[in-house]
Amino acid sequence: MKQTHLIGLTTAELSDFVASLGQPAYRARQIFAGIHGRRLRSFDEMTDLPKELRQQLANQATISSLRLESRYISSDGTRRYLFKTYDDYPVETVFIPEERRDTICFSSQSGCPLQCTFCLTAQLGLLRNLTAGEIVEQIIFALNDAYSVGVATPRGTNLVGMGAGEPFLNFDHLMKAIGIMNDAAGLHIVPNRITISTAGIVPSIRELAATPNRPHLAISLAAPNDKLRNDLMPINKKWPIQELLAACKEFEKSLRGNERFTFEYVMLRGVNDSDSHARELANLLNQHDLRAKVNLIPHNPAEPLPYQPSAPERVEAFREILESKGIHAFIRRPRGRDILAACGQLAARSASGEPPLSIDRSRGLRAG
Ligand code: SAH
Repeated sequence: MKQTHLIGLTTAELSDFVASLGQPAYRARQIFAGIHGRRLRSFDEMTDLPKELRQQLANQATISSLRLESRYISSDGTRRYLFKTYDDYPVETVFIPEERRDTICFSSQSGCPLQCTFCLTAQLGLLRNLTAGEIVEQIIFALNDAYSVGVATPRGTNLVGMGAGEPFLNFDHLMKAIGIMNDAAGLHIVPNRITISTAGIVPSIRELAATPNRPHLAISLAAPNDKLRNDLMPINKKWPIQELLAACKEFEKSLRGNERFTFEYVMLRGVNDSDSHARELANLLNQHDLRAKVNLIPHNPAEPLPYQPSAPERVEAFREILESKGIHAFIRRPRGRDILAACGQLAARSASGEPPLSIDRSRGLRAG
């Protein structure tokens, strides 16, 4: 992209950019507040800037770069956005309204290189890492769609890095985006309202533990032993469960107050949901004595993948076994399943399940 994409710049970088235009530093603060605080989409809307500067900016820079391809609204109010990057790769974002807060689930990569067998995004393979700007833009777009440009949000915004991609394989861009969103002159979404979910990239778990003002951590476990986890999440062959939990133990030292971290356990009927799996999981977590809770996520339909969700009674029985062994466990209610917005369903599909786009890896995405 020839033009500078301003949404992905920190205030310091924006100051440099503004200086290169021969403008005083306070203009950078105005522009930052316009983009991130008021969520403006064009320089024309920044009426506190002189007209000539707005023109100059429009010539040399863009605020945003994602193009909305489709928007789907679920019967439960969840919204899914399918964007394309400037070079035509798919990006998906999910907005989940709740009574007391909104949650935005953002993507960190276009596609995903991990091969989790139960997740549809895996079918895309890795297309590319998203830039910090492309991450921040997903949040700004979703808030503008829900509340209109320039309108303050009526309740808090939580973010979850649980969309497409493995966030820890795009660590630097992710952390930069989190820093930009933390700025009080902008979105002011503090890391304490952000949870990053990983399939278990061990070195990054250690790195996150050492990061000041870090977001919360969730780990996708999906199995209580290496044999099963190797099958479901091949990344386990690189970092098996004992190594993963050792890194978690290390991470535990960085927990604040009554903060806990979360294990996500996708419930696959007849695969990982028996009583003995529950006991094995409880024993595993108790062995490591981790300050953690478990979120049980019934599998979301993801044809053509060969899995079914566990029955509600099975999920409840599994939860009770965990609780009886002292592990706090919660059942996650799926949101936006009807529009393929739920966990593991993000694969650039239309709401009817048809892939709207055909992917040619060498050339990016083409309408098809
Ligand atoms: N790569 C990261 C973040 C994306 S996956 C990670 O693995 O954590 C986000 C969550 O969705 C993970 O916990 C994953 O186990 C879960 N998930 C994936 N496919 C799913 C499906 N079809 N149904 C329910 N949960 C699924």
